[in-house]
Amino acid sequence: MRIRGAVLEEIGRSRPYAESSPISVSELELADPGPGELLVRIEAAGLCHSDLSVVDGNRVRPVPMLLGHEAAGIVESLGEGVSGVAVGDRVVMAFLPRCGECANCLTDGQLPCTPGSVANNAGELLGGGRRLSRDGADVHHHLGVSGFATHAVVDARSVTRVDSDVPPEIAAVLGCAVLTGGGAVLNAGLPTDGDDVIVIGLGGVGMAAVLTALSLRADGAVGRVIGVDAQPAKLDAVRALGADAAYTPQELAEAGVRAPVVIEAAGHPKAFESAVAATAVGGRTVTVGLPNPAARSEISPLVLTAEARTIIGSYLGSAVPQRDIPRYVEMWRAGRLPVEKLISGVITLDQINEGMDSLADGTAVRQVIRF
Ligand SMILES: [Zn+2]
Ligand SMILES: [Zn+2]
Repeated sequence: MRIRGAVLEEIGRSRPYAESSPISVSELELADPGPGELLVRIEAAGLCHSDLSVVDGNRVRPVPMLLGHEAAGIVESLGEGVSGVAVGDRVVMAFLPRCGECANCLTDGQLPCTPGSVANNAGELLGGGRRLSRDGADVHHHLGVSGFATHAVVDARSVTRVDSDVPPEIAAVLGCAVLTGGGAVLNAGLPTDGDDVIVIGLGGVGMAAVLTALSLRADGAVGRVIGVDAQPAKLDAVRALGADAAYTPQELAEAGVRAPVVIEAAGHPKAFESAVAATAVGGRTVTVGLPNPAARSEISPLVLTAEARTIIGSYLGSAVPQRDIPRYVEMWRAGRLPVEKLISGVITLDQINEGMDSLADGTAVRQVIRF
């Protein structure tokens, strides 16, 4: 079928992207879903820093690539052998499919699926190959989703069904920001007994970590929740979400504030250093950010030993999407996780380059494309 989608043509074009237009919105051909796959009509898709990282070259991926890895939509048709979802269901897509059979999948989310990672790096679906083409030439999938389009063919092992009362833009944001930021708290940071939580880097993922930490205060698992970002506007925003304090990285260091659980969601080596420095004796530093592969941080190994500390790398919030997304939906429905507060703007598919500029400026938390 013919679809409309946002294709990254070239990596590393100069900013502003509104002028250099690295992403073109064009017509493409989408093949029918193969065995184990489904066709989804996309309703909403969020713009994430991991999309920007492909545009600016911090994460090198094959191009042309149809971007977008945080999306939700309605199942329109099923390939052979798909069970558990039906035509008409609303589904959330997660950016790492789980084959469910490899040794890593048996670790309950702690390790990323091996064939899923291989397919993602190749710009293919988990079942192998691509379903997207333009003028007879293949176009790569982004992380098994390619949600910046009117429709997508995805592997059934990339999706989680949600009830129809979950609005599309909320459902979309569950797929990356909430799975990653929420999982950093619930699956990796594991605050207990009134632990304070510091979150460094207040984009969609960081803000989702803040919301999740705040949700645990009612049970007494979390004490103070502290947001850290270099942008003053983000500090105002995190206070508005209910954080107890907000600092720039420099202010955090000067104040000497430390916590048993510190989450780094900025994807920058300096932010990682700040996170390690802000972790208390016996505490856990959880890093979910995705810096440039060449980036290096400087930390003192001695403090890890002398202060009995742990550093945890957490991909996709150590999530098992089909286990965790229903949990977040329940929290949202109970009013404990106001996911809608992450959404800072709604844009159209044709505004994608401007949206990438807003992300790069650090002025947006989560912009969502509505179809
Ligand atoms: Zn993302
Ligand atoms: Zn696997």
